[in-house]
Amino acid sequence: MALNLLMLGPPGAGKGTQAERFARTHNIPKISTGDILREAVAAGTDIGSRAKATMDRGELVNDDVMIGILRERIEREDACGGFVLDGFPRTVAQAAALDGLMAGRDPLTVVDIVVPEPELVRRLASRLICESCGVGAPMGGGSEVACARCGGKLVQRTDDDEAVVRERLKVYHRQSEPLVEYYRVRPTFRSIDGTQPPDRVAADIAAAIESTGVGAVDGVGKAVDKNGVRQGAQP
Ligand code: AMP
Repeated sequence: MALNLLMLGPPGAGKGTQAERFARTHNIPKISTGDILREAVAAGTDIGSRAKATMDRGELVNDDVMIGILRERIEREDACGGFVLDGFPRTVAQAAALDGLMAGRDPLTVVDIVVPEPELVRRLASRLICESCGVGAPMGGGSEVACARCGGKLVQRTDDDEAVVRERLKVYHRQSEPLVEYYRVRPTFRSIDGTQPPDRVAADIAAAIESTGVGAVDGVGKAVDKNGVRQGAQP
C-alpha cells in the first residue's frame, strides 16, 4: 500500500523539515509546491515570473495554476509508490481537486502540525534556507554561512520578513485553516504537537501514521503494510 502523506499546518510549523525527513527515510518524493514555485522563479519560467510578485506579497498563487502544477508532479513515475505533500492543498478548492486526482490511488493520510502563532512568528523571522537545495536551517549567532547538506549559501527567504510573515499568517487563517475541518472527519486525519523538538515531532508523526493502519511504519522508519511487510520488499 502506498503511503500518500499530506502535511497540514501554518507557515513555520515545520512541515517542510518533517516532510523532507519523512520522504528521505521512506524513499518517496517530497512534493513541495513552494519549492516548485521558487525553482520556477529562479529559472525565470513563465509561471515563475507571474508567481513571484504574489509570493513576495505573501498571498496565494491562483488555484488553477497550482492544481496544474500538482497534477503534473504527482503523475510522474516516482510518485506512484507514495509521496509527501508539503504546501498543497492551501485552499478547499485545491483539496477538492486533489481528491479527484487521488481517484484510484491509496488514500491520503493527513497530519496537521499545530504550533501557536507567537512561536510561528519567532521561527519565521529567524530561519534561513539554502539558496541551492532549499533545505531550512535556524538562524544562529550569525556564524552560519553554508548549508550542512550541500554547502550552498544560506539566505533569508524574501517572504520571511516580518510584514510578509504577518500577511502569510492572515492568508493561512482565512484560506488554509478551513482545510483542517475539511480533513478532520476522515479516519486517516491526525493532529501533532509541533512545538516539540524535531525528533519528537518526527516520532509522533510515525506513531500517528501507524495508528491509522495505512502504510504503517516499523521501528527503523520504513513503511510497512498492515501485515508488517516492508514496502518494496520482494515476496
Ligand atoms: P511555502 O514554501 O509552502 O511557504 O510557499 C511559499 C509561497 O508559494 C506561498 O506563500 C504562496 O505564495 C506560494 N504557494 C505555495 N504553495 C501554494 C499553493 N498550494 N497554493 C497557492 N500558493 C502557493
